Amino acid sequence: MESQEILEIIEKQRKFHRSGQMRTFSERRKALKRLYKNIKLKEKDIYAALKKDLNKSEVESYMSEIGLSLSEIRFMLRHGRKYSRKKRVRTPIAHFPARSYKIPCPYGCVLVISPWNYPFMLSIEPIVDAVAAGNSVILKPSEISPSVSQVLKDLIEMTFERGHVDVVLGGKEECSFLLDQDFDYIFFTGSTRVGKIVMQKAAENFTPVTLELGGKCPCVVDRSADLKLSARRIVFGKFLNAGQTCVAPDYVYCDKMVKDKLIEEIKAEIVRQYGKEPLKNRDYPRLVNKKQFDVMKGFVKDNLICGGRFDESSLKIEPTLLESDFDSESMQDEIFGPILPIVTFDNIDEAIEKINSYPKPLALYVFSKSKRVQKRFLSECDFGGGCVNDTIIHIAGSRLGFGGLKQSGMGAYHGKTGFDTFTHYKSIVKRGTLDLPMRYQPYSKLKYKIIKMFLK
Ligand code: NAD
Repeated sequence: MESQEILEIIEKQRKFHRSGQMRTFSERRKALKRLYKNIKLKEKDIYAALKKDLNKSEVESYMSEIGLSLSEIRFMLRHGRKYSRKKRVRTPIAHFPARSYKIPCPYGCVLVISPWNYPFMLSIEPIVDAVAAGNSVILKPSEISPSVSQVLKDLIEMTFERGHVDVVLGGKEECSFLLDQDFDYIFFTGSTRVGKIVMQKAAENFTPVTLELGGKCPCVVDRSADLKLSARRIVFGKFLNAGQTCVAPDYVYCDKMVKDKLIEEIKAEIVRQYGKEPLKNRDYPRLVNKKQFDVMKGFVKDNLICGGRFDESSLKIEPTLLESDFDSESMQDEIFGPILPIVTFDNIDEAIEKINSYPKPLALYVFSKSKRVQKRFLSECDFGGGCVNDTIIHIAGSRLGFGGLKQSGMGAYHGKTGFDTFTHYKSIVKRGTLDLPMRYQPYSKLKYKIIKMFLK
């Protein structure tokens, strides 16, 4: 898209925002209802685009993209009005007589930048939260999932008035140009590398940011875990979308004593879920492009436990297990594909120390029957969010909030957390004419004493 065209869209957004059309929740509600209806109308197009870009099946597309987006809209339709009301809070006695309020106000024009791996859900959910809070939004979806980006553009254009929500298609160049403009809020989902660029550019204009980034998410399995159930849920979370999931277990970190049995269970589970020939499974997603396919192929080396076969024409790689340690190539960076290294520990202390010596993960999973072990990982490791005895499902549902910390991100969204992310709360004290005179000059010993009585 041409720079001039982008500038015109931004100008239109500013005008729209200043017009105050979205000041009341009733207007936002109408727009969100239209979005819900139009997603349903375009459901087939969305399936087709997800199939084309990633070979996602309809079930997977609904479960992890469309369904989650619809449920976030429903949540905001149900709760947004309540969130949009001004909230009275207690006034300190020193201000007597007065009333204090927090007034939720939209930031203004929000830039949402999304990635290719869940290209629909990761675009729609931030839009829903931002619109519910009364903002205008420009979405820049990923150029790497072009079919979904086009469907998003069509959907947004048939749903929202120009200036309310708009889509700018393009890649790095367009994104850089957008980041050079003065937005009121930037919501970025993507890699840690680009997240750093976004934050640097935002700093130029003091623009607040939410960064939803990635990293290596450990999946701990201790010796007390139910190994069959653990294997089932690890295989689900890891190989959904062929491992191209920010919260997928990046590696299994298991007690040495259970390693062999766990590997047998995971192997059996892969066959149960994906069949003996996963490359022929029509519902098994592919790697997004040749570049990503080649990176994944590069991990398949002599430490192979199972899988490792690939099909270059369809860009599919089998669910693959590797025997690894922290020095292995597969353990140096986020994997983002169907490759699962298995790493072992001798005891819990060692495991916690090791996890804490790496960047703070977006997610951590712990499989264990021991409450003490569960509690230790939850309290002694820093990470964005996670599950006990399951994987990835904490991203679904509007009540938990979702986000990382440090290298895995900052800020969060979904539900009330998302509404708050896109809201500035004005703090207001409303006073009458009556006055307590102690704050005014000239000061005296008595005034000093009274102030000390009130403020302690
Ligand atoms: P990416 O950072 O390469 O791209 C994200 C967006 O940034 C795209 O829209 C792209 O056009 C734009 N972009 C790319 N390079 C840019 C540059 N130099 N300057 C300005 N903009 C640029 O990420 P990706 O490859 O699309 O997605 C994969 C990454 O996203 C993984 O690291 C994954 O963990 C992470 N991710 C995180 C979450 C989360 O919720 N935390 C969700 C999905 C993916």
